[in-house]
Amino acid sequence: ANAVKPEQASAAPKEDAVEISSRDRIIFPDIGQTKGQLADYYTAIAPLMLPFAAQRPVSLVRCPQGRAKKCFFQKHDSGSFGPHVHHVPIREKDGGTEDYLYIEDTAGLLACVQMGTIEFHGWAARSDDVEAPDRMIFDLDPDEGLNFDAVKKAARDIRDRLADLGLVSFAMLSGGKGVHVIVPLEPDHSWDAHKDFARRFAEALSMAEPDRFTATMSKAKRKGKIFIDWLRNQRGSTAVAPYSARARPGAPVAVPVAWNELRDTDNAHPFSIDDADKLLKRARSKALHGWGMAAQRLPDV
Ligand code: ATP
Ligand code: MN
Ligand code: MN
Repeated sequence: ANAVKPEQASAAPKEDAVEISSRDRIIFPDIGQTKGQLADYYTAIAPLMLPFAAQRPVSLVRCPQGRAKKCFFQKHDSGSFGPHVHHVPIREKDGGTEDYLYIEDTAGLLACVQMGTIEFHGWAARSDDVEAPDRMIFDLDPDEGLNFDAVKKAARDIRDRLADLGLVSFAMLSGGKGVHVIVPLEPDHSWDAHKDFARRFAEALSMAEPDRFTATMSKAKRKGKIFIDWLRNQRGSTAVAPYSARARPGAPVAVPVAWNELRDTDNAHPFSIDDADKLLKRARSKALHGWGMAAQRLPDV
């Protein structure tokens, strides 16, 4: 008598295959956002996020007890992610091989959220060819106290210098303090070529304007400057994925922006996991059409 009608049995979308437990657990204590709300954010944003986050090795920032408690960066499977989180073997420096993680769909995002993941960080290479990077990232890290106008100007200057080299680039608000300038590339060059190009580009900028830029990680040498973090372009490095939530106060998210939108943006974290509808709507705007996409190669320099 209680037989499930066929339409009921198939009503649930496939993503529901991942059950989120403890939906009411508070993950962002400062604003009271829960694990369930985080899962809902990722479910909604998946169509925008997956083109950038799927099919790449990912590292996760997991905070099982919420962002105010202990968080950890996870690169390898601890055995409990289930069938929606996939493995890709990657050669390590020591000659051995380690399984890294990748996802390919909403269920993959949710399986990670179920395990306490807040942030998704991706390699600049696809999991089907991890030796062929397909984007370059300049992660602009301002010294504490530097205002966001300086960051915006730095991002635009980097865009212009890249354009001088024939390269189109895109801006992403990190959801933290800085902006990432992202250069999509055909996967035609080695990691060494990417790292070398990125290092020389950052060093040239800091040599030309040493008062504004530094290309060395040292915090002491960053006083009043912006560190152009080119080290994101080494094999094994990751950067936060577009539309990833951040384990920071206010549950901010990393957000792609058009260059002319950046001009009117006051900080690197104007959107939060509460804004999925807004983000979906603005992603349909002309300004964001084609964000992060360009068929181009590193110049031979
Ligand atoms: P912000 O704008 O506040 O700098 P961000 O995401 O750029 O935000 P960074 O500290 O500059 O943060 O880090 C850059 C990248 O380095 C991160 O996106 C992440 O992929 C990587 N990263 C950060 N912490 C670790 C870690 N503990 N282990 C490995 N990689 C990390
Ligand atoms: Mn940064
Ligand atoms: Mn950095």
